[in-house]
Amino acid sequence: MAAAERLLIVNAEVDGAAGLDVRCRRGLIAEVGPALAPAAGETTLDASGGALLPGLHDHHIHLAALAAADRSVRCGPPDVRNRDELALALASAPGEGWIRAIGYHESVAGMLERGTIDALQRHRPVRIQHRSGKMWFVNSKAVELLGLGDSDGRLFRRDRWLRERLPAMADWDAALQDTSRQLARYGVTGVTETTPSNQAQDVERYRRLDLCQRVVAMGDETLEAGTLKVMLDDAALPTFEQLLGRILAAHERARPVAVHCVTRTELVFALSAFRAAGTVPGDRIEHASIADDATLRLFRNTHLTVVTQPNFIAERGDQYLADVARAECENLYRCQGFLDADVPLGGGTDAPFGDADPWAAMRAAVARRSASGIVIGAGEALTPERALALFTTPPGNPGGAPRRIQAGAEADLCLLDRPWRQARLALTAAHVRATLLGGRTTYNRANRTGATT
Ligand SMILES: [Zn+2]
Repeated sequence: MAAAERLLIVNAEVDGAAGLDVRCRRGLIAEVGPALAPAAGETTLDASGGALLPGLHDHHIHLAALAAADRSVRCGPPDVRNRDELALALASAPGEGWIRAIGYHESVAGMLERGTIDALQRHRPVRIQHRSGKMWFVNSKAVELLGLGDSDGRLFRRDRWLRERLPAMADWDAALQDTSRQLARYGVTGVTETTPSNQAQDVERYRRLDLCQRVVAMGDETLEAGTLKVMLDDAALPTFEQLLGRILAAHERARPVAVHCVTRTELVFALSAFRAAGTVPGDRIEHASIADDATLRLFRNTHLTVVTQPNFIAERGDQYLADVARAECENLYRCQGFLDADVPLGGGTDAPFGDADPWAAMRAAVARRSASGIVIGAGEALTPERALALFTTPPGNPGGAPRRIQAGAEADLCLLDRPWRQARLALTAAHVRATLLGGRTTYNRANRTGATT
C-alpha cells in the first residue's frame, strides 16, 4: 500500500449531492466542492457519479479469530450438518499437526467430548470450537499435548489458557494482513477488536502490521487502556458486587465498559449494575440479543449504547426459530425497537462468529429475513440509510451521528460504483469500487489485488 498523499476524487455523490470533488491531503479530507481544480502532482480518481461514503467501521469483530478462522476447518451448519460430514471435514483438513475447526453446533453430532472426536480423528490433535465461542472440544491427542490428564475434552472459556499452550500460527502476520485486505474489499476502514483476552502485544501487532483498518482494541483488566470488555455467562454469573466493582474500577481508570449480553438475564443483570455504577461516555452493551419491552425500559436515562448484529437474523434465524419460542423471536437482535426507546445503536458483525461482510448485516437489518426467507421481527426493520449508519459512526460512539465527508475529517472512504439511490436497493459489497484509509487506497476493484492507485 503506497501512500497517496495527494488525491483528488472527482464527480462523486456526497451526502446525496451529485457532481462533487473531494481533495485528500496528508490523510485528511482537505476540501469538498464542485469543480475543484486539480493541483500539481495530484492523482485523480474519477468516481463516475458513484456514492462516496465514510469508510465502514465494524464496531464488534474478533480480528485475530477471523484470521485464524480463514485458516480453519468449518464444521457447523450449513457447511457440515451431520456426523459423517464432520468426519469428512476433519479428514480433509490440510497440513499436518493441529487441526483447528470452528462453527460447531450440537445439531451436527451432539455435545462433543474427547471420545467422540477420537472416533473421527485420533492421529492429529484436534480442537473444535462451539459456534458460541465459549467452548472448545479436544480429542485425546490434544488432551495429551495440552497436559490435561483425564479431562473429558471440554474446555469452557479457556481461550487464554489454550493460547498460552498452543504453538503460534506460523504465518500469523500474513494471515492478519490477508484478513484485513478482505475487509477492505467490503469498504471497511476501521474495526473494534472486542476480544476480552487482547494483550498489549496484540495491540502492538495491529499497529506494526500497517493494516487496511484502524484497529481499536478492547480487553480485560490486563490491558492498561481502552474499553474494558466484560463477558457474562448465565450459567456462571459473578455476584452483583463483583460486576459493579469491575465497572467502578474501570471508570476510575477512565476506561469505558462493554458488557457481553446474549440472554435476557445477562442483559438485566448488566443494566442493573450500570444503573448502580452510573455510566460514562463509551459504555455499551454488546449484542443485547434478546430484549423485551420491559428490559428496554431499563435503558432509560442510562445513555448506554447497544452494538447489535442484525446479520445473525439472516445467518441463524432458522436455528432460532427452532430453538426459541416464537414470541421470543420478536425480541431478537432488535433494531428499530432500540431507536424508538432512544437507545443509541451501532452495528458489528461479530466475525468470525458472524459473516464479516457488513453489507450482509445491513441487508439483514432492512429485510429481517432468515436464510429460508422467514421474517423475524418485521417491526425492527431499518431503512437502508439507518442500516448504513450502524457502520459509519465513530469508533468511540457507535450510536452517535454518522461521520461525514467534510474538510478536516480523516480520509477514510468507501467509494461505490453507483449513486446511493441505486446502491440502497441491493446493499451489497459487490458495489464497492474502492476503499481508502487516510487517503491511501487499500482496495481498488479495478486492479483486484488491492494495491495502489
Ligand atoms: Zn463477539
